[in-house]
Amino acid sequence: MAKILIVLYPDPVTGYPPEYARDSIPAIGAYPSGATLPTPKELGFTPGQLVGSVSGNLGLKDWLESEGHTVVVTSDKEGADSVFEKELPDADVVISQPFWPAYLTADRITKAKKLQLVITAGIGSDHTDLDAANQQGITVAEVTYSNSISVAEHTVMQVLVLVRDFVTQHQISVDGGWNIADAVSRSYDLEGMRVGVFAAGRIGRAVIERLAPFGVQLSYTDRFRLPRDYEEKYGLTFHESIEDLVKEIDVLTVHAPLTEETRGLLDDELLATMTRGAYIVNPARGAIADRDAIVRALESGQLAGYAGDVWDPQPAPTDHPWRVMAHNAMTTHTSGTSLSGQARYAAGTREILEDWFAGAPIRPEYLIVEGGGYKGTGAHSYAQQPTRTHDQGGQ
Ligand code: NDP
Repeated sequence: MAKILIVLYPDPVTGYPPEYARDSIPAIGAYPSGATLPTPKELGFTPGQLVGSVSGNLGLKDWLESEGHTVVVTSDKEGADSVFEKELPDADVVISQPFWPAYLTADRITKAKKLQLVITAGIGSDHTDLDAANQQGITVAEVTYSNSISVAEHTVMQVLVLVRDFVTQHQISVDGGWNIADAVSRSYDLEGMRVGVFAAGRIGRAVIERLAPFGVQLSYTDRFRLPRDYEEKYGLTFHESIEDLVKEIDVLTVHAPLTEETRGLLDDELLATMTRGAYIVNPARGAIADRDAIVRALESGQLAGYAGDVWDPQPAPTDHPWRVMAHNAMTTHTSGTSLSGQARYAAGTREILEDWFAGAPIRPEYLIVEGGGYKGTGAHSYAQQPTRTHDQGGQ
């Protein structure tokens, strides 16, 4: 029997369960790639319920305990005295979400002598030291595609919120004001703007497809160039590097994973090459941006706005400058954990566990590392690879 340690964000302060705004969520047939949605044998929750917080336990606790496993669910994850740190040494499986990541550093992995499986309930496994997981032969899996569209929708929303200056206008309304001049003095139409997408993977492509009808000029950069017919369909211009991309755009959206290559990429030097008054929306990872460089660029007017939902670290301290910097439309890390997204990644987590306990292979699209090496999605997304063109085989 296994010990499963599940780290989830705390319950709503008003208590669990919350009062739901709707009675159901739409059933989605398949992902845009054609891949099927998660196919667990059973679900321990009703889709649309809040399962990402401790009491929701991803709908796993009753099932796992009925199978004889030990389950610990906690939100207490930081510091030597945390429940996570204390329970980790004899845990076989660790599950957490990027919104409330259980940071599995090399040091913690060394202490976790029994650890065999780490699941990201969601997408993005950079909170686990993947090299250390490889060295210890730990399997790391995530629920690929589960919340890609959730994040793409949030990105499109934040692009519009920034460009139209929604936050200022809403605040004037809340405050009882009506000064139209104040409300519109930083408000523009998105139509006609040049939008650059950094990394055209699942989320980046979904953003391209959703923004195209706004009449924008779209460009992108990625390690793999997209197929020519896709570029033509969306009027996409390809740039070889982010340095080339950012010179030519008004809005940048960021969708690359956090790797040693992308860490700190949005720094003073790069921001200085952008058009004055550009906007950035980064729902990928906070550490891709240099925290203080973003603040400086907003203060100087080099950037007209910054939004996203990812921070470094998470949860962000209350005095994190991005909470209060000028012209920000930040949210806490929520884009991928809408009630709709939760239903998919909780189901995918259960599917991974069912397969693992049955000794069946985990779907390759869910695998990040296995057997000491990058596998499946991990081999594509996390291993270092050179730029290719669509003639050499794109996505
Ligand atoms: P994908 O793997 O589908 O796409 C990532 C893309 O980034 C790939 O096309 C990859 O290129 C490209 N890429 C990687 N490194 C570089 C680089 N150095 N330069 C240019 N392109 C690069 O991932 P998703 O679209 O599903 O997710 C993207 C990221 O979004 C995740 O890694 C995660 O960090 C974040 N995320 C955030 C969520 C949230 O709630 N805010 C939820 C889900 C994900 P190639 O394929 O050519 O190798």
